[in-house]
Amino acid sequence: MYHYQRQKYMSEFAAKKMICEIGKRMYDRNFVASNDGNISVRVGLNAIICTPTGVSKGFMTPDMLVKVNLKGERISGRLKPSSEMKMHLRVYEENDEVMAVTHAHPQVATSFAIAGIELDRPLLSEAVVLLGRVPIAPYATPGTQEVPDSIAPYCKDHNAVLLANHGALTWGKSLEEAYHRLETLEHYATILMYTSKIIGGTNELNCDQVGTLINLREKMGIKTGGVPTCSQKEITSSLGMESKEEESTKDVGKDEIIESIVAKVTQRILLKLDKGR
Ligand SMILES: [Zn+2]
Repeated sequence: MYHYQRQKYMSEFAAKKMICEIGKRMYDRNFVASNDGNISVRVGLNAIICTPTGVSKGFMTPDMLVKVNLKGERISGRLKPSSEMKMHLRVYEENDEVMAVTHAHPQVATSFAIAGIELDRPLLSEAVVLLGRVPIAPYATPGTQEVPDSIAPYCKDHNAVLLANHGALTWGKSLEEAYHRLETLEHYATILMYTSKIIGGTNELNCDQVGTLINLREKMGIKTGGVPTCSQKEITSSLGMESKEEESTKDVGKDEIIESIVAKVTQRILLKLDKGR
């Protein structure tokens, strides 16, 4: 269950313990490889507990974590904070309701970030409510000032953003909420991959259905997330590639369209060859 407590900071002790637990879940779920990813929690007006650089998120202990101020300067801890902390700090700076930020490279969501495909389709009611629309921030070299600048426009109105050719970033009013958004993001991206790219059939929620979910979301106290792109149609249904092709043109890349045409032509040729035998 989600509990929305306004502006209540977690204790440093609890934050450190929970960051280690979330890091382990992130690592166990394959959201990160090697020492990838980072997690932070706001524990005061000018104090953040964050993960250090060069450490696997699956094997952290509370003594490894670092305390920094909102400028990123280390207040305590023996290890160096991650260079990617710059983007976390920018989220806190842009949105003072945020209490925690998570960053990882989950495989399917990152693949969409590489393909340049935004996660803005209304497919899953829970994703519409808890996650919302997920835009893509333009590519920026990891660790540089370009990264925080690229995500800044999304921090106030969204709950998550894909980082082009890099990974995913989520935030929330608690670490639990930020991490759940990361899980929902990867889950949604995986289902989108299956339905649109593998099964080739997607029944999207229409605008009325999306509107009902947005109302529900507001009643839950979630004012962020944007509205997924929807259609007024009764239901957007497609079981065969033929009916979906035109509509999904703007979602899929040129290469995918070419690939699908090549596949169809190949199939027809093989069928003819087969009949000729
Ligand atoms: Zn990264």
